[in-house]
Amino acid sequence: MEVPVPPTVSSLLADRAGEEMALNDRYLNPQMGRILRTLGFERSWVGGEGAHLIDADGRRYLDLFGGYGVFAIGRGHPEAVAAVQAVMEARTGNLPQLGVTLLSGLLAEQLLARAPGSVGAMVPANTGTEAVEAAIKIARAATGRARILHADHAFHGLTLGSLSINGNAEFRDGFGPLLAGCDEIPFGDLEALQAELERGDVAALVLEPIQGKGVNLPPPGYLRAAQQLCRGAGALFVCDEVQTGIGRTGRFLALEYDELEPDMVCLAKALSGGLVPIGALLVSRPAFETVFDGMERAVRHGSTFGGNDLAAAAGLATLRVLDTERLLERSARLGELLLEQTAPLTDEFEVVREVRGRGLMWAIEFGPPAGGVGRRLWERVEARQPGLFSQLITVPLFHRHQILCQVAGHHMNVIKALPALTIEEEEIVRFAQALRETIAAVERYPTALARFGLRTGLRAARAGA
Ligand code: PLP
Repeated sequence: MEVPVPPTVSSLLADRAGEEMALNDRYLNPQMGRILRTLGFERSWVGGEGAHLIDADGRRYLDLFGGYGVFAIGRGHPEAVAAVQAVMEARTGNLPQLGVTLLSGLLAEQLLARAPGSVGAMVPANTGTEAVEAAIKIARAATGRARILHADHAFHGLTLGSLSINGNAEFRDGFGPLLAGCDEIPFGDLEALQAELERGDVAALVLEPIQGKGVNLPPPGYLRAAQQLCRGAGALFVCDEVQTGIGRTGRFLALEYDELEPDMVCLAKALSGGLVPIGALLVSRPAFETVFDGMERAVRHGSTFGGNDLAAAAGLATLRVLDTERLLERSARLGELLLEQTAPLTDEFEVVREVRGRGLMWAIEFGPPAGGVGRRLWERVEARQPGLFSQLITVPLFHRHQILCQVAGHHMNVIKALPALTIEEEEIVRFAQALRETIAAVERYPTALARFGLRTGLRAARAGA
């Protein structure tokens, strides 16, 4: 069959607009198509600006998904767009491979200047999971040990190495055997960590300072004590800041709250400016030098596009915008406002178990009411599909309030928000009010909503959601 020459991208955007669901069903992920239709989320997203997504009818949706946290400086930030354009127009000597480039070095300089003194080199990557893979490999090579510890509920990416340290069975199941020597410990449990470290064979402990799945904050002092235990046992301490880093929690890195000095720090997501995929692993000089310890070992680890100019430019522009727009302070301040606005929900509604977060990484957790009709309905909804109750909230938030937010993981009733750090105060207040109204409606009309929930749940369960 002769394949016709594809038209230009600008003409495709205009001429084939509206075909995305059909193309997805045909060539990409039809199960995702079923989920979107079930929830009524099948929109043609034609634009994005700051903290908003814009559909084909010109409606603006407050985007609390934030592309899983990549849009810290907002969608389409002009400065980041200009930086990427400038690199393209300059036709830089990108990817010489047997050669080095300016922008990648400058990005490393900037990142390391903002990171703790314990790290002193950067390994470029293209995604979060690639940064984590690099950390696993470097930990093994630097220590000569095999075991990597991770926490329950941990999420570090979905390639095989990162998946081997994933603390959620629903991601791991069916892909085994995974990497040998990867063991899980309860998040926050120092005794369990100590017991594993005592075996003397642990290369590294990999932790998220705040877990993305569920937005779980560690007990106070846990991270610092864990770091100390690792040091004592000759194991490396790795902070995965792929989600928490780049200003998300109100500091450049979440590890700053505990003054951690890790051996490695994984970065990605928001460093992209929401434009060009990027990952980076910051590594201590001693660990780095034991791995790259001779000319013949200079290319032991790497990837073709790691350190490319477009990604580096997006990263440098992101760091500049964080500074010039004072987004760390903003993230901390607006995060407090969000907690202030939503914390009262725990007293106002029986189903709200907890509201938590740091900076603009926020979550609300629901739990069953103590008894009565509400309890019976909760049980019916949850019997169909654990975690379904949350959809009774996210669906009306989307349809009635034009707010897009996510359930924070499988089988959990936690809704999460990772908005652009540039979000306006009024939008925070509007979200809190929309949430209050939505939860009140669920409490007021539980039967109607449960009926919807059961229907949605059945369909979503059949779709494999
Ligand atoms: N680490 C953490 C903490 C993450 O949240 C994620 C993605 O959500 C990853 C690693 C993987 O990043 P990527 O999807 O870019 O591979």
